[in-house]
Amino acid sequence: MKTIDDYNFEGKKALIRVDFNVPLDADLNVTDTTRIEAAKPSIIKVLEDGGSAVLMSHLGRPKGQRVPEMSLQHIIDAVSDIIGVEVKFVEDCIGEKAAEAANNLKAGEILLLENLRYYQEETQGDEGFAKQLAALGDIYINDAFGTAHRAHASTTIVARFFPGKKCFGYLLANEIKAIDKVMRSGDKPVTAILGGAKVSSKITIIENILDKVDHLIIGGGMTYTFVKAQGGSIGESICEDDKMELALDILKQAESKGVQVHLPTDVLAADAFSNDANIRVVPVNEIPAGWQGLDAGPDTLAAFKAVILVSKTILWNGPVGVFEMETFSKGTIALGHYIEEATQKGAFSLVGGGDSVAAVKQFGFQDKVSYVSTGGGAMLESLEGKTLPGIAAILA
Ligand code: AMP
Repeated sequence: MKTIDDYNFEGKKALIRVDFNVPLDADLNVTDTTRIEAAKPSIIKVLEDGGSAVLMSHLGRPKGQRVPEMSLQHIIDAVSDIIGVEVKFVEDCIGEKAAEAANNLKAGEILLLENLRYYQEETQGDEGFAKQLAALGDIYINDAFGTAHRAHASTTIVARFFPGKKCFGYLLANEIKAIDKVMRSGDKPVTAILGGAKVSSKITIIENILDKVDHLIIGGGMTYTFVKAQGGSIGESICEDDKMELALDILKQAESKGVQVHLPTDVLAADAFSNDANIRVVPVNEIPAGWQGLDAGPDTLAAFKAVILVSKTILWNGPVGVFEMETFSKGTIALGHYIEEATQKGAFSLVGGGDSVAAVKQFGFQDKVSYVSTGGGAMLESLEGKTLPGIAAILA
């Protein structure tokens, strides 16, 4: 796997696909700089080698239109502050202006291109557009994990124009290594904790990881489809009736593959989907009519804890309760603490995909686990076992 460390950028112009798709407030100020900070090490490496960096990204979904609110101009100051270099900006990503700005770039300088998605050719993966982008740099670096699952011009097609001169940036390389640990090379026992709302959105992941893990912990809203399928009473809990057969099939597959499945045994049930609802702990398969399970119960958490603390590799995807409401957030917070404890004892822990990342950030666990993925959809597709086109393009 070629990474940025395999190259010396002295006198070279690096064309770097970053993910600067950051949130902006009503005054168009950046409200979360995580993604800019994540790209910093790769940019600094290029500059310290004596090279220059041409940064390209999308922002929002302008769908081929020049939507002023989605201009990357709004993030120049944030990028300059974080990298510590005054960033130059050009109001196009291809064409004469972009070419001239890239030509004039000197060692140690950074050029930020305008939003790639002002051109629909970007998302269409247009080869001519990709060729124009390619003309702006000598070596191509992909450091945008968040878009690695898209075969867009700047994430995938552009790599064709850099035979022998393309590599992964640090962020993308770290994501690949983290996924590899969970899926292939991690120490055993390997445990996957899957929560979230629905079985249907996680089914491909479950099927793929059954071949890789020793323990599968199932929590959150997914639980009730399994419990009902097994004949339990789940009251008003969230359930996908059309996925009950599938749930039973997953349990059978797990058994035949020697995977130990851990489902909740008790839950914190509520008489309404509300933070102020009446609550009580009940067995997971005896939820009364009018009540719904919204968080893991104490026996369940104790059992999950025991599994997590003996695990050497842990994947966490999805909360075990409706963590957005304080009353039902305690199970997810407790789970975070168990993973933190296991990590302190030497386990490798990866948190990735969708809402678990939001939960981890909200409760301050991001520095207490081994790795928090930056790419929602890209991480989910990796866990589903798909080859991401942005990664394949570098390896080609
Ligand atoms: P996902 O994006 O699939 O990871 O789902 C995350 C969502 O699942 C969060 O918004 C949680 O509020 C929701 N969730 C977790 N547990 C439950 C539950 N018991 N009932 C309903 N929703 C839940």
